[in-house]
Amino acid sequence: MGIEGLNAPSLRLILDRAHAHADDIQTGSVEPTLAGRFICSLFLEDSTRTRLSFETAARRLGAEIIRFDASTSSLSKGESLLDTAQTLIAGGAECLVMRHASSGAPAHLNAGLVRTGHAVPIVNAGDGMHEHPTQALLDVYTLERRLGTVEGKTVAIIGDINRSRVARSLTIALGTLGAHVRHVGPRAFVREGLGVPVFNDPIEGTRGADAVCFLRIQTERTGRAAYLPNTAFRALYSGSREGLIPENAIIMHPGPVNRGVELDAKTLEDPRCVVLDQVANGVPVRMAVLERALLDEWGEA
Ligand code: ASP
Repeated sequence: MGIEGLNAPSLRLILDRAHAHADDIQTGSVEPTLAGRFICSLFLEDSTRTRLSFETAARRLGAEIIRFDASTSSLSKGESLLDTAQTLIAGGAECLVMRHASSGAPAHLNAGLVRTGHAVPIVNAGDGMHEHPTQALLDVYTLERRLGTVEGKTVAIIGDINRSRVARSLTIALGTLGAHVRHVGPRAFVREGLGVPVFNDPIEGTRGADAVCFLRIQTERTGRAAYLPNTAFRALYSGSREGLIPENAIIMHPGPVNRGVELDAKTLEDPRCVVLDQVANGVPVRMAVLERALLDEWGEA
């Protein structure tokens, strides 16, 4: 359900498998390890990259993936999520890839399915402000592709960290794998107590970092008290601020980017920017995650 609770060998297993899948994609030799398996994507909150990438990953492994459309389903007639999930499972779904606006929703649904004797693996594709585990995995993977390893490297995460499930999962994953994480942002967006250094001064916070990961202001989750105008944010915390991105640092963003706010067109076209690599890397990473969910012989550490 999350990166929290996965130890370094478990993360390594997924990442190594993803690296192998990427090589197989390159050479056109992907084995259809999930041929004949039936996965359902249950996205109850908007998504472009994550949904597309899970669907591509499932198809590359030979699985059938059906997209459940919440807006035209009986959820809109008041059917509960548990009843909906049981219906999908009764129809043959062997795994649910789930996104939900509420933190803990996949765990809650899993508990209901276990209680009613209908459990199937649920892959968390982002739950509220809690976790976005596959985004963290693909971010680590992207860093490994560029830097060789994340161990001992410094990653500054900058922006609306308090409301970001990406920041939470990535901070845990990088910490588990021995990287140094910094949280950088205005007072309304960052807080102490998460076990990593916090910087309100962005230039100080990104100084010497090997990578800077920018985050969108999560307006859909921002209360009035935490509101910071885009113009003020851009002047201080965006990639276009002179001297904010160290010369050799990798530039990351999970997307969607609000162009001109966190990153401008020039920064997005900078050779150090790996935003589209992150999207591409989501496929081999999610292939590994789907195999972990569905294959009995997955060697868990
Ligand atoms: N796509 C990421 C997420 O679903 C980041 C974002 O929406 O800003 O959390």
